[in-house]
Amino acid sequence: MSKSISGAEKLLNLVFPEKCISCGEYILDENRPGDFLLAHFFCGECAETITRPDRELENVASPLLYDGAVKNAMQRLKFSSDISSAPFFAAELEREVRAKFYGLEFDILTCVPATRASLAERGYNQSRLIAEQMRLGYERDCELLRKSRDTQVQHLLDAEHRQKNIESAYSLNRGRSVVGKRILLVDDILTTGATCKACARVLLFSGAKSVHIACATLTPRK
Ligand SMILES: [Zn+2]
Repeated sequence: MSKSISGAEKLLNLVFPEKCISCGEYILDENRPGDFLLAHFFCGECAETITRPDRELENVASPLLYDGAVKNAMQRLKFSSDISSAPFFAAELEREVRAKFYGLEFDILTCVPATRASLAERGYNQSRLIAEQMRLGYERDCELLRKSRDTQVQHLLDAEHRQKNIESAYSLNRGRSVVGKRILLVDDILTTGATCKACARVLLFSGAKSVHIACATLTPRK
């Protein structure tokens, strides 16, 4: 007899995919990891490769090391149009923001923007997908910032020009005001922090009171 799926089950599958978000294999009940959240997104083998960051950064909440199954899942989200991991990254970030920024309040939750060209190519901005699924109760504005051009040719520039090149690519969107606001900025992968720093500077120059970063993954220490 084929198993019929109820509406509630369909909804659960949307939130908790039945395939591992890293390797794409079906998650078998006997192979589910012990952790509640991981159990709904990863098979047991992939879950074992998940680790927490090996460094702490000031004003940055980042729950996952960009390595192993997490790296696979993030790459599927970024490059393979597989958005099934977005609720996982959002849930991990929520937990980390509550822990690391305990006692702090924010006025606006926003995200690092993507260029129009990359939006057209990918169809979505993965940082925005994550930010939109975070349930922290703050006002959300994922179009607070804009990115006017791509900054891919970074390796041709020295460190100072690199930072300037990045900073000049971001600006506050027309009609937005952040004066006196406490901002929580969501990003996908933090490596050098140059992108988040550039966005934070734009926000602070525009009058924001503070900027804290919530980045889903942190690359391993070099
Ligand atoms: Zn797996």
